[in-house]
Amino acid sequence: MRARAVVDLAALRANVRALRARAPRQQLMAVVKANAYGHGAVPCARAARQAGAEWVGTATPQEALALRAAGDTGRLMCWLWTPGDPWREAVDAGIDVSVSGMWALEELSRAVVGSDHGPARVQLKIDTGLGRNGCQPGDWEQLVAAARDAEKDGLIKVTGVWSHFACADEPGHPSIQAQLAVFRDAVAYAERQGLTPEVRHIANSPATLTVPEAHFDLVRTGVAMYGISPSPEVGTPDELGLKPVMTLSASLASVKRVPGGHGVSYGHQYTTPGETTLALVPVGYADGIPRAGSGTGPVLVGGKWRTVAGRVAMDQFVVDLGGDSAAPGDEAVLFGPGDRGEPTAEDWARATGTIAYEVVTRISARVPRVYLGEVREHQTETTETDDTGA
Ligand SMILES: *Cc1c(COP(=O)(O)O)cnc(C)c1O
Repeated sequence: MRARAVVDLAALRANVRALRARAPRQQLMAVVKANAYGHGAVPCARAARQAGAEWVGTATPQEALALRAAGDTGRLMCWLWTPGDPWREAVDAGIDVSVSGMWALEELSRAVVGSDHGPARVQLKIDTGLGRNGCQPGDWEQLVAAARDAEKDGLIKVTGVWSHFACADEPGHPSIQAQLAVFRDAVAYAERQGLTPEVRHIANSPATLTVPEAHFDLVRTGVAMYGISPSPEVGTPDELGLKPVMTLSASLASVKRVPGGHGVSYGHQYTTPGETTLALVPVGYADGIPRAGSGTGPVLVGGKWRTVAGRVAMDQFVVDLGGDSAAPGDEAVLFGPGDRGEPTAEDWARATGTIAYEVVTRISARVPRVYLGEVREHQTETTETDDTGA
């Protein structure tokens, strides 16, 4: 196989259990947007459910509907709506939908009138300071009143009030407490107006790990579930009790001796310093390897870290093995948990000036996912004897 992203579902389940232990009285929403940050939405959602996640969350309604179509019957929520999106299908599928403004409540209400499956389950989103989606606090009174009216008309039921942090990955950032204060006020106001949300929630992975007072009724964990730290300041995966779930590797497509002074890859940004061995790694930016990794990305080949020599091309890049030898077919590990000495997604993030979230999420569909530790539906999590293997 040219390349593979091995996804360790036993590690994912262990991470979900570790996160549940951080918020033991709260429900947990497994965030599987963007194909589970590149790990595969359907198997990851199933594994998270097996480890006790009561909720699964996605960004787009299409992502949530795809999970329903794949047989997920639990509580599902999606939050990134655009005018014209499939409200009716979401209501029919029993998906909790996020509403941040009047246009969404109006489109939703029209969709519910034609559905046999109402009332729609609605989670009202307040912008407590992120400045992205969510109702501005100044417009909250109007949105709450309209939601209350729609409840009285039997069109919707407000199941949640929620928000999202801007800087939870920077422990101690003053915006965290400021957002919490706005959130508490917005929840209290909605409840005074007669709304009775089942769940109030604002915590993402970093807040789940570092801000206990932000846990409320539910925590929404994404990146940490995949064994990746939200930021170096929050800690390493190991310090957080998390195990990276994805290992990205490729088989060397060519190994050859070349003389010194040989240019390597487009633009000849690398020239061999002397006679050496070059190995060709058959993955490139079309597979999601950052082109910014040209000359900087770390790769484990033959037990040693190498650095991408010259440019990352669309389909391939080269590493200089120096005096070492290797054979076509030998494994090159770009990143993984690090327990075999390989780089981690965090190492690639540092080398390419991005965040580890992006490193895993951008791995493209051209790379086959290989699942380890999958538990069949009829098996139960209690049959699992340890945290590393099913
Ligand atoms: C992506 C996302 C999350 C999960 O964030 P992590 O930092 O990956 O845990 C939670 N809530 C919302 C609204 C999101 O978009």
